[in-house]
Amino acid sequence: MDINTNLNEEHKILRQTVRDVVKQYVAPRAYEIDQDREYPEDIFNLFSDKGFFSILFPKTLGGSDLGTLGLTVAVEEIARGCASSAQILILSALTTWPLRIANNQNLINAIIPGVINGSLRGAFALTEPNASSDLSTMVTKAKIKDGTYYISGEKDFVSGSTVADYFISFAKNEKGAMSAFLINLPNPGIIFLRRDEGMGIKGIPHCDWSFDNATTPEENLIGNEGEGSNIARISMNAIQPLLAARGLGSAEESLAFSRNYSLERKIYGDTLSELQAIQLYLAEMAVNVSATRELTYNASKMVDNNQFTTEEDAAYLNIAKIFSAKTAINSADKAMQISGGHGYMEVHPLERIYRDARHLRLYMGTDEVLKIRVAKSLLETGMGIGSSVSRQSTEERTKRELRDDK
Ligand SMILES: Cc1cc2nc3c(=O)[nH]c(=O)nc-3n(C[C@H](O)[C@H](O)[C@H](O)COP(=O)(O)OP(=O)(O)OC[C@H]3O[C@@H](n4cnc5c(N)ncnc54)[C@H](O)[C@@H]3O)c2cc1C
Repeated sequence: MDINTNLNEEHKILRQTVRDVVKQYVAPRAYEIDQDREYPEDIFNLFSDKGFFSILFPKTLGGSDLGTLGLTVAVEEIARGCASSAQILILSALTTWPLRIANNQNLINAIIPGVINGSLRGAFALTEPNASSDLSTMVTKAKIKDGTYYISGEKDFVSGSTVADYFISFAKNEKGAMSAFLINLPNPGIIFLRRDEGMGIKGIPHCDWSFDNATTPEENLIGNEGEGSNIARISMNAIQPLLAARGLGSAEESLAFSRNYSLERKIYGDTLSELQAIQLYLAEMAVNVSATRELTYNASKMVDNNQFTTEEDAAYLNIAKIFSAKTAINSADKAMQISGGHGYMEVHPLERIYRDARHLRLYMGTDEVLKIRVAKSLLETGMGIGSSVSRQSTEERTKRELRDDK
């Protein structure tokens, strides 16, 4: 199976480079990262030394110009070894897209070179106790006085926030218009509340924070006042292929394990791979992994071609993430089944892969919210499938066929 289809020479070299790094350093750390529940500083520094934070960005910003497709390949490979480590790269994209979408040159110049060289890390603070899928219920407020914004509210589940140098956050003005802000840390108005311990992605701290008149200068407004929900929505569109890549890497690892294990494990005097029921599991996994790869790479290319701002674009990006999350979870489940009891045990990588994969159905758009967006787009535009068969034309055709039968 040539998994490099549709990749250029640079992307193929990148894949091999990342694969070697994962094999040597990242995969051997995955168990410890999960057990210790500690942010892996060593992995962050390694990614910085290897230049992985430059992959996404154009040469004009000091990046290596390999785009979202390049970052997708890197995330896919890293996710094969450790999903928490892959999430570090995803966060570097999520917390820089808002600046690029708003085309705020001052903030781009202040932040992106630091992200590339590993001296700056961001966190994305959008979700609130009573506002996530439905952002209209957001209560965090921003008031401006003498060139400074004062922001008050609460932000929850903020991934990577304990190691962040800045937050990208969102708040409403007195008229209810939502805006996006960059807030430098530490900030006396931003108070740590608690760490949320999840079932997976344990190497990334997810924490809740209180904002009590957190200050940020007016130059740190991202875009214009009132553009916050568009900036959040489009930033989340842009990272859907990277989340799909995490699912892809996870599913590939489950499939590779299943193949190898079924070829080695003896049962009834022969290997598991001789059982047709096991072959069907393997084939089903291979079908879904191949489809996920196509959807993921296509979605990445869409972002690189600037096709990620409209709702129709978003539908295709969301489809990649929805399908990939499902494939990752189902593949881990099947692999665990093939492993018998072994994969269920804590010391086995599948146990972690299974827990980490579940995160993908919730994070940066739940399945349901993304599916509703897909359905809206399908109903409004046809999504290239068109609207040729209406109820009326179906009824007419049936009548015609009945007449012809007589
Ligand atoms: C580990 C983890 C890390 C996270 N990190 C971050 C982060 O860094 N930054 C951040 O801002 N957020 C983060 N989140 C939040 C995440 O992105 C989701 O937005 C959030 O988990 C979903 O919101 P909620 O839990 O409040 O569910 P709700 O919005 O209350 O939704 C509850 C349920 O209703 C469903 N639902 C919603 N609308 C509809 C509808 N119209 N029709 C049918 N069903 C619907 C949802 O899909 C869900 O199943 C994180 C979440 C997790 C679990």
